[in-house]
Amino acid sequence: MTAADQLIVTAPATDRVNLLGLTRQQLETFFIDLGEKRFRAQQVMKWIHHRGVTDFAEMTDLSQPLRVRLTEIAEITPPSIAEQHDSQDGTRKWAIAVEGGSLVEAVLIPEGDRATLCVSSQVGCSLDCTFCSTGKQGFQRDLTAAEIIGQVWLAINSYDAWQSGKGRVVTNVVMMGMGEPLLNFDNVVAAMSLMCDDLAYGLSKRKVTLSTSGVVPNLDRLAEWADVSLAVSLHAPNDALRNQIVPINRKYPIQRLLASAKAYLDAQSDKKRVVTIEYTLLAGINDSVELAQELAQLLKDYPCKINLIPFNDFPNSGYERPSGNAVSRFWQVLTDAGFVVTVRTTRGDDIDAACGQLVGEVVDRTRRAERHRAGRSDHSLLESGR
Ligand code: SF4
Repeated sequence: MTAADQLIVTAPATDRVNLLGLTRQQLETFFIDLGEKRFRAQQVMKWIHHRGVTDFAEMTDLSQPLRVRLTEIAEITPPSIAEQHDSQDGTRKWAIAVEGGSLVEAVLIPEGDRATLCVSSQVGCSLDCTFCSTGKQGFQRDLTAAEIIGQVWLAINSYDAWQSGKGRVVTNVVMMGMGEPLLNFDNVVAAMSLMCDDLAYGLSKRKVTLSTSGVVPNLDRLAEWADVSLAVSLHAPNDALRNQIVPINRKYPIQRLLASAKAYLDAQSDKKRVVTIEYTLLAGINDSVELAQELAQLLKDYPCKINLIPFNDFPNSGYERPSGNAVSRFWQVLTDAGFVVTVRTTRGDDIDAACGQLVGEVVDRTRRAERHRAGRSDHSLLESGR
């Protein structure tokens, strides 16, 4: 039973259930429990996810008494946009306000006929990878399934592109925003199910990617629940180095992680799939030719492609972006060893591209405003060394 199933079963009658985050099966159960036919779920899903409708009164293929009843017991409430930034290169980034006043990020990156939405799964993150802006904010809470799928809903809504014939606003989704998706398992699985459901966003399972830093026990059980594409945030070719920059490695070392990811692939019916290995290049830390050779050795015969990500700097990160030459050398070693290697081009540089950076800045700005109201300037804080 997933978290959302429990919500239906245990929610008091007076609580409104947010239908936005319910999977097809959960919504069918909801309507059957109401004494309605199963197909009501399909009608309502189309209204929510195909047409962007959040008001039951507009759902004209439902009977009037059902619309009234739904208004009493349910709601369709997406999170709201706190800030939206458009980059000159077409990238659009949002700081999204979720219940309780916290913020998460989503970013849409158009590229040719593709548009990839990077989605958050948690408010902050507990894993504390040392190069990550989100990790520095600490963990607050898991996002609900409605808040996760709501990021897809908001992205489409922000272009006013419901059935507009403008083509698809979102063609690919990567669960690679704030948070570790496998630490919010039920809600992430429910949201990914909606991403792939024809009655919702209808994305191919290959075009939805879950990226993990290595929560191995949950990766071990992922294949029972989902068959989306998988990315592993590796960032180092040996445990000694990975222990330093991805602390969860101390619990689940590289060989265990790679074995778990391989088992996930082996459970898929599509045997052509590979794991995407994400490797953030940090100048002077993990970008040497020797480490590239060690990575090539580690991944020899492993079904993968490699995505190199030159570090996106943010204030007080403690790391630097590698030079173009260092990136090229690293790429060359892996390419010569026969790997398919891509280098992520920097997008949205003018709108704070590093994950978690926009939220960090909005929070800082809010705190500055609060301090200002309290009669205390930033300057005095700087002088006091805080
Ligand atoms: S890189 Fe991912 S898992 Fe690591 S701290 Fe950042 S959000 Fe969490």
